Amino acid sequence: MDGRYELERMEAEMTVEELLSQYYDAEYFETFCRKCRNYGRLWSCPPYDFEPGKYLKNYGSLRILCTKIRLSDEWREEIITPESMEEAMESIIAQVKSDTDRRLLDEEREQAGRRMLSSGGCRLCTRCAREAGMPCRQRGKMRYSLESLGCDVTRLVKDKLGIELLWAKDRLPEYLVLVNGMLIQHRSE
Ligand code: SF4
Repeated sequence: MDGRYELERMEAEMTVEELLSQYYDAEYFETFCRKCRNYGRLWSCPPYDFEPGKYLKNYGSLRILCTKIRLSDEWREEIITPESMEEAMESIIAQVKSDTDRRLLDEEREQAGRRMLSSGGCRLCTRCAREAGMPCRQRGKMRYSLESLGCDVTRLVKDKLGIELLWAKDRLPEYLVLVNGMLIQHRSE
């Protein structure tokens, strides 16, 4: 963390049944993924050799974990070209994503029956092995994201946490949002 931004963390819980019935449409969201440079180039992103809905059904509930990155007004005034805005967002998101994922992977390891979902595409390697047709190099750490599994993240965070996702226009937005998840298996009792 530094003077350019402050973090606020929020979370909500829901059943996977509700997620699948209200916020899931893998076919529809894959049409957006196809336009992304990561499509077919990262193992964390579609197309998959499994059905995301079936993967999600292995779990009973989902914790949605939002990290709101509030950018300082002074800093937003300083960064004004599209290139510098892009660079600034990339660097902050990479830093916060890496810290958040590490913390949640620790939580996942400590509690049985959990699976963390990352925010956005995997950034663990400089170049993903998928580009060379090789298997993932860090399967133990790589995690999918809610959006890559076909969930409507924009509507989820609005409905469950009242957060509106913002985008950069002629200035950096007031805040950026990273959305992680923690899938939790059905309890056996
Ligand atoms: S860990 Fe490396 S090889 Fe695996 S998905 Fe991430 S970038 Fe690709």
